[in-house]
Amino acid sequence: MIIKLIDQIEDNQKRTVIDKINSIGYKVSEVKTQVSSYLIAIGKKEFDIRKIGFLPGIADIHRVSDEYKLVSRKWKVNPTRIDLGDNVFIGGGSLAIMAGPCSIETESQIERTIDHLKQNGVRIMRGGVFKPRSSPYAFRGLGIDGLKMWHQQARAAGIKIISEVMQVSQIAEMYDFVDVFQVGARNTQNFNLLDELGKVDKPVMIKRGISGTIEELLSSAEYIFSGGNEKLILCERGIRTYEKASRNTMDVNAIPILKEKSHLPVVADPSHGIGIREYVEPVALAAVMAGADGIIYETHQKPEEAYSDSQQTLDFIESTQLINKLKRCFELRESF
Ligand code: PEP
Ligand code: MN
Repeated sequence: MIIKLIDQIEDNQKRTVIDKINSIGYKVSEVKTQVSSYLIAIGKKEFDIRKIGFLPGIADIHRVSDEYKLVSRKWKVNPTRIDLGDNVFIGGGSLAIMAGPCSIETESQIERTIDHLKQNGVRIMRGGVFKPRSSPYAFRGLGIDGLKMWHQQARAAGIKIISEVMQVSQIAEMYDFVDVFQVGARNTQNFNLLDELGKVDKPVMIKRGISGTIEELLSSAEYIFSGGNEKLILCERGIRTYEKASRNTMDVNAIPILKEKSHLPVVADPSHGIGIREYVEPVALAAVMAGADGIIYETHQKPEEAYSDSQQTLDFIESTQLINKLKRCFELRESF
């Protein structure tokens, strides 16, 4: 159960509400986000919510039986829209396109990518500077200096930045230079990291774990929300299955399911989802038709020379084609 409190609630009013809920046999957790205050009541017994609904200090009360609560659509019917400023939004009826290399590599690579994005009206650039790599000998990113170099160019061009944060100490370092923090698939259940991101007043896109369920993704998002940060985006990026023909199995099913279960925007990552350049486009288009609020994918001026994920990276011609088709698919979907 979610009890949304009024902003001006007095301490004694809150105490009365908590005592009343406890007396029914429910446990109460207090959640204060950057936007609102809530009480999350957990219990099994059925009871009439009107029994507490009249108490002073309560703005709203909703029955939510799911494991996750605040990210559930059961209490917030309207979809959440994330505002990145300068008229750039994720969710709430538009299609957000985020593109860029797997890894930030060089100044000229950044320049050429930004030119490509600008030519196609794409406002958000992706790129990793802290890279989670399966092998310790692989390229692990330019680190914070790379992010600063990227930020300088992106700001000048009016391009927003999404980049992966791998550990708690990087949050403060990165803060001034990113518009969206990305939590990677290997960190979906790094609860210390999620707790800390709850304290940040910048959007976070959380990816589904490599072998994570939809419910686990939502529960991880709940960590960040209940930690205080309501600016959240969910990302389906494919899961590990027994199938060997592709790097991962893009779970297109997850998109309508997440949209139904949660009010948060849902982004799809077809690059990691299938992991094979030739098939990124059809999977991306399928994700749009399935209801995605955004697509994030990898592109590079010379994919064969990319420091990481070259095999799934589009060149700029393929990327331009994809952007045009994404827009057409989105229009078609919206016309249904
Ligand atoms: C990435 O976006 O480059 C990345 C490492 O993604 P994931 O965490 O989904 O593997
Ligand atoms: Mn990658």
